[in-house]
Amino acid sequence: MIERLCIIGVGLIGGSLARALRQAGAVGEIVGCNRSAESLARAKELGVIDRAETDPSEAVKDADVVVLAVPMGAMEGVFERMAPSLKPGAVVTDAGSTKGHVVTVARNAFGEIPPFLVPGHPIAGTEQSGVEAAFPELYRDRRVILTPVTETDREAVALVRWTWEQAGAQVEEMNVEHHDEVLAATSHLPHMLAYCLVDALARMEESKEIFRFAAGGFRDFTRIASSDPRMWHDICFANRTQLLKMLERFGDDLERLGEAIKSDDSGAVMDIFQRAKTARDRYRQIDPGSPE
Ligand code: NAP
Repeated sequence: MIERLCIIGVGLIGGSLARALRQAGAVGEIVGCNRSAESLARAKELGVIDRAETDPSEAVKDADVVVLAVPMGAMEGVFERMAPSLKPGAVVTDAGSTKGHVVTVARNAFGEIPPFLVPGHPIAGTEQSGVEAAFPELYRDRRVILTPVTETDREAVALVRWTWEQAGAQVEEMNVEHHDEVLAATSHLPHMLAYCLVDALARMEESKEIFRFAAGGFRDFTRIASSDPRMWHDICFANRTQLLKMLERFGDDLERLGEAIKSDDSGAVMDIFQRAKTARDRYRQIDPGSPE
């Protein structure tokens, strides 16, 4: 059991972890830290946290485990502010969507990559934000990727693994670069496409008419464009190298599809669609919980 858990960033991700760990009886006291006293008051009212602090250096005092679930752009500042107040032996982890960035800013803030830092990323979420959206089942049967580096203490990794398992997650390890490459393809690129498509349609003169006749396919494909723009702004810069590679590659593929249509190459078009359908059907077998 974790006697004192500190969550910095009590929103969807941090709040859901707090709720899940409380439900599992895996924590004693939960201290929450956001910038605004209002969002913390709401977290306390909802029973997500026991104590509220707006200053990370106060929040982490005497905490056994500290979880950062703030937007990517806030990670470095939070590391800097909490560093002097961490209790010896405390384990720190994060839930940020890109991992190379977290390792880099941790090195900047602590002067080295601290052995007690276990970078992590839950592959779970919704397009909602804030503590009101947090729910304890968010991580049940979902994957959490931990990306320890050579400096990372294996006991710290074991404690973070145990923490996510208490929340119902399946934990895997991956190296930092591979994580950022894979997530650029499976999560960051789809979000860019959804934002870009909805924006392109919204800017068309007849956009009202277009949205009125948008069917289920449009709704499914664009759900994630309702995600918090600030959060995705930070993610796309934090993983810019890998994301730019994927955007370029996808741009080439889109161009190839356009060329095939332009030149009436029905075989090439069918090949693309058939390959995609086969891959999507196979993915549905691996992850039957995913929406149709
Ligand atoms: P969220 O619901 O907006 O929650 C973020 C929380 O951080 C808010 O409560 C916010 O409260 C607080 N915060 C922001 N800046 C802060 C700062 N400088 N110091 C202290 N607290 C601060 O966002 P989320 O969806 O939980 O995402 C959190 C992290 O998880 C992000 O790094 C994201 O990349 C990652 N992630 C998200 C998902 C997803 O699907 N949403 C999935 C996996 C990983 P105040 O505004 O009051 O400060």
